[in-house]
Amino acid sequence: MAILALPRGLDAPVDTIKGIGKSNAERLKKLDIRTVRDLLLTLPFGWEAYTPASIAGLDPGKQASVVGTVLSIKAITTRRRKMKLTEATIRDDAGAEMRVVWFNNPWVLKNLHEGDRVAVAGMVRGSHFGGRPEMQSPHYERLEPDVEAQPKRVGGLMPKYHLVDGLTSRRIAGWVETVLPLAGRLEDVLAPEVRERHHLLGVVEAVRQGHKPETDAEYWQARRRMAFVELLELQAAFALMRARIAAEPAIPIPYRQEVIDAFKAALGFELTHAQKRVTWEAFKDMQEVVPMNRLLNGDVGSGKTAVAAASAAMAHAAGMQTVVMAPTDILARQHLRKFRAYLEGAFPDLVVELLVSSQSAAERRRVRTAAASGHCALVVGTHALIEDDVEFANLGLAVVDEQHRFGTRQRELLRGKGRGRPHFLAMTATPIPRTLALALYGEMTLSVIDEMPPGRTPVETEVIEPEQRDRAYELVRSEVAAGRQAFVICPLIEESEIVVARSATAEFERLKKEVFPEPTRMGLIHGRLKEKDEVMQRFVAGEIQVLVATAVVEVGVDVANATVMMIEGADHFGLAQLHQFRGRVGRGSSRSRCLLLADDPSDRSLARLELLTRIHNGFELAEEDMRLRGMGELMGPRQHGMSDVAMDALQQPELLSEVRQEAQRIVGEDPNLERHPLLKSAVTRRLELTSIS
Ligand code: ADP
Ligand code: MG
Repeated sequence: MAILALPRGLDAPVDTIKGIGKSNAERLKKLDIRTVRDLLLTLPFGWEAYTPASIAGLDPGKQASVVGTVLSIKAITTRRRKMKLTEATIRDDAGAEMRVVWFNNPWVLKNLHEGDRVAVAGMVRGSHFGGRPEMQSPHYERLEPDVEAQPKRVGGLMPKYHLVDGLTSRRIAGWVETVLPLAGRLEDVLAPEVRERHHLLGVVEAVRQGHKPETDAEYWQARRRMAFVELLELQAAFALMRARIAAEPAIPIPYRQEVIDAFKAALGFELTHAQKRVTWEAFKDMQEVVPMNRLLNGDVGSGKTAVAAASAAMAHAAGMQTVVMAPTDILARQHLRKFRAYLEGAFPDLVVELLVSSQSAAERRRVRTAAASGHCALVVGTHALIEDDVEFANLGLAVVDEQHRFGTRQRELLRGKGRGRPHFLAMTATPIPRTLALALYGEMTLSVIDEMPPGRTPVETEVIEPEQRDRAYELVRSEVAAGRQAFVICPLIEESEIVVARSATAEFERLKKEVFPEPTRMGLIHGRLKEKDEVMQRFVAGEIQVLVATAVVEVGVDVANATVMMIEGADHFGLAQLHQFRGRVGRGSSRSRCLLLADDPSDRSLARLELLTRIHNGFELAEEDMRLRGMGELMGPRQHGMSDVAMDALQQPELLSEVRQEAQRIVGEDPNLERHPLLKSAVTRRLELTSIS
């Protein structure tokens, strides 16, 4: 027989477990569960508690489990709505009876027969039929005929696992049950003294207890241990990276007051307090031999570019060059204009150039030569910057805008463009609460711009209920009639980009035909479109009045004339993300609006969206998101390379700081992790897997 009762070991693929075929293995893979070890280490995210009870003692409205005998079981079709039900009567050992129904579940009839002993667990309802209690679609487990037989999986605490279509928590629990005897072989990444210091369970206990706790407290102990280890691996990885970066010296860039004075004088506006503070933080870092490695986090429109420009000016004064990489052609061009405007007045010899793949070969060659000879001080560009033939004479500072759009390798390539190690500044407009930033980007120091330049009028935000959709269209029409422009964001559908593109195209056609007919000039942009930049250019130029865009498309461009942002299916987005979209309007002086349409008009969903009408600070919204939807949601599923258990643990800042201290201590005492081989291999795996820079 190919399948043994127990798979061979922890590294065996899950499809060697009895009852898991190819298709289930595929499903588990989507949950990042590939091996027996993965299955064991993935704890349930919560529990349902069913109190064992006799039928006479059942309370309607409470969850309970009952053991009894099947008196009758049959398939029926309801008369009125033609629903297929399986109906059973169960009698417990005290002789009381209850009715149980399952909807549309033909499997029950195959598994359960008259006379079987069974355990059922579910929500108790009072019955419409003669006073007997009832359960609808309860979990069930057939028991051995013996009266003493107790259920293994149904009743008591029942685990809830994360699922994908086709899986149930019970099936996962069944597979876990099969391999649980192997848990004893799990190696512990944590040394005993570390466990003692932080009162943590050993891995074997944690796994046994996490999947099959007797009490809630046992479950939470297990979870805490799992979260601790995961965060420790990450923090140890960061500590190693910091050590590695510190070992490669950069050239210090001395601070010169006259440079910043000249910069400010030519700027045309006063820097905000927040901009001054973070600029100073960057200057302080750049004076050191240890390369700066800083993440600059500031809302859309908070003025991050000016901070980068001031840093570039300081580098230039020290005879060093700066490179700035942006994710799209159009953003790179926008940067080019801004950097020139900010710098060329005060520093006439500070030459700013552009390098993008849409330029002619001759132009690119010219810019490459200027960079390699040291003639130009600042090169702004896209991925074109990290190609092999691009070199810098003396690169002092590397800046990445919208850093989450780039992979680790790309950022590394950019930093490798100089002779030594340049100072590094990453910028992001995704507001990240501090704890999350520490957990995700722990190898960087964090600067936050938490203040907007003065004189911005907040974008008026309104939640529009589905039946008022026409009013939203009317608002778009009237703004367009007044010479303004609008975005319409299509709903987020979690499918392939092909499907997304197709549905956006259909929506675009519909809007064009039925809602915004000629002479309204419409445009469409989605991830699969080759001419993304062209479409965006036409929108910037005012040729397109209403731009239909998918959520996957970066609309991170300033269009001062755009005054309406209409978002379909807004309830599917995180608040922070909606805030990002909203930041695309209100860039000019005229009054702007953001219209949020919800697919799900429930009070809860509308109340969440209402927060956007009151809160205009991205960080506050990110905190709200975290509170309402959890950390995992905030960052989007699985982009972060962290399990939900670890994400959730971030809600407790004390735990994270405990973990950080432990990681520092371990790496401080054992810089190459030679005495922690298991931790070392876990850390190495993480450094390879995750998107941390
Ligand atoms: P982001 O942080 O989104 O990159 P930008 O750097 O593009 O923001 O700045 C947004 C706009 O605000 C730009 O037009 C910029 O010139 C302007 N700006 C930046 N700082 C200030 C300030 N302190 N006062 C007034 N306007 C500012
Ligand atoms: Mg920007």
